[in-house]
Amino acid sequence: MAYDFDLYVIGAGSGGVRSARFAAGFGAKVAVAESRYLGGTCVNVGCVPKKLLVYGAHFAEDFEQSAGFGWTLGKADFDWATLIANKDREINRLNGIYRNLLVNSGVTLHEGHAKLIDPHQVEINGQRYTAKHILIATGGWPQIPDIPGREHAISSNEAFFLKELPKRILVVGGGYIAVEFAGIFHGLGADTKLLYRGELFLRGFDGAVRKHLQEELTKRGLDLQFNADIERIEKQADGSLKVTLKDGRELATDCVFYATGRRPMLDNLGLENTAVKLDKRGFIEVDEQYQSAEPSILAIGDVIGRVQLTPVALAEGMAVARRLFKPEQYRPVDYNMIPTAVFSLPNIGTVGLTEEQAREAGHKVQIFESRFRPMKLTLTECQERTLMKLVVDADTDKVLGCHMVGPDAGEIVQGLAIALKAGATKRDFDETIGVHPTAAEEFVTMRTPVAG
Ligand code: FAD
Ligand code: NDP
Repeated sequence: MAYDFDLYVIGAGSGGVRSARFAAGFGAKVAVAESRYLGGTCVNVGCVPKKLLVYGAHFAEDFEQSAGFGWTLGKADFDWATLIANKDREINRLNGIYRNLLVNSGVTLHEGHAKLIDPHQVEINGQRYTAKHILIATGGWPQIPDIPGREHAISSNEAFFLKELPKRILVVGGGYIAVEFAGIFHGLGADTKLLYRGELFLRGFDGAVRKHLQEELTKRGLDLQFNADIERIEKQADGSLKVTLKDGRELATDCVFYATGRRPMLDNLGLENTAVKLDKRGFIEVDEQYQSAEPSILAIGDVIGRVQLTPVALAEGMAVARRLFKPEQYRPVDYNMIPTAVFSLPNIGTVGLTEEQAREAGHKVQIFESRFRPMKLTLTECQERTLMKLVVDADTDKVLGCHMVGPDAGEIVQGLAIALKAGATKRDFDETIGVHPTAAEEFVTMRTPVAG
């Protein structure tokens, strides 16, 4: 049968755009559908605007610390509306770049909501198109628990477009988004509380990292409330919000921001017209080559719920394009040693196994740790400390994990990830000459294990 397209991609986010462009580059006839915004979550309501807001928040401490270097500044004044308008302009520019990227690579762009009609057919804006392969790359959506007054809460989607910086904000959750946005709002001057239901936030990260970040955020005056969960939210006559916690405490705030994970975006997608199956958590189930239970339909990125990071969606998108249209270049995505950063203030950067994971996996481990005051702060009052940690296999000397909390940890961990991927040993680290004076050199000068 002759199809309209070789590949029809639903969703022009990180994974969809990458897959569509690569497939078109390999000579396939490709279309991509996008219902909301070109570039998807990362470009519009994710990584990019988030990082811009983190930069914005960081200035507060730069201004303060500059005094130690002899600077006298007038009273710093922050205008949220300017930051948001400039951020929006930048995102518009990126949307245009994504449009050009697609069009210039020969991909047909359909703007509208796409729905599956059958295993080879998609409907969009009242038109139907057939395709040999269909790729679902529809991403995710914030998930807010169903508590009374949930309609008064916002998610990251709305946080990027608030008209004003709230005077008081409660951020709920203990994952990436909660920690990053608590830092943003606190840095920009809002009275910020972070509420997390468990003992300590950032479950899954190395224990020392979690504890260290807790201490650093507390030093900065961020109000961390652990073992705290919201029972209900009520709007008050003056527009403020009364939040009642499960332990009976009441808190007054102007904004409740839930960052409690993301569900797959499957709304009105027409999956019922296909044999596509969902896994136990509700994400699209795929095999190791991203094929769903319906042979003509593949899925990648956040909608399969493996690792919800842009570079992972990009890698999966490329893998699909290669497998379908350039099989001789196909390489499976390696999910080991995925580096990641939490853009909290200070940053977390991490790659490889945590100490807990390494021990659980049966490794005999050696732990190296360094805690120090960053050189830049020595002329300031700031008491922030950096943590660096290496988890090493005592038998093979292989470095199993690198973890850092401190300025630029996200930048530093990228290079370390290459070393770990190449199988670097502790001896390789020791024999690497440092770059002086940097914080990063500490990773090659840790000599004495703190724990075995
Ligand atoms: P998406 O980028 O979400 O793209 C899916 C696209 O599909 C969307 O544009 C959507 O409109 C479209 N769509 C959905 N349904 C349909 C339909 N039926 N028809 C047509 N189009 C449809 N990751 C990092 O690596 N680093 C970070 O710093 C980072 N920060 C983040 C901060 C926030 C606040 C959030 C929410 C996420 C962040 N992420 C970060 C995660 C990252 O954004 C995602 O992992 C990534 O965007 C997933 O890409 P994707 O292609 O799977 O989906
Ligand atoms: P995460 O899965 O990272 O964290 C969700 C948090 O919400 C956890 O602390 C979880 O607690 C808590 N939680 C879940 N359900 C409830 C509930 N019903 N009530 C109270 N608390 C709850 O999700 P995020 O929303 O922070 O981010 C989504 C994903 O986006 C991330 O996992 C990450 O993959 C990606 N992302 C990446 C970033 C980066 O690379 N820098 C930045 C932002 C997002 P518990 O631990 O107890 O389950």
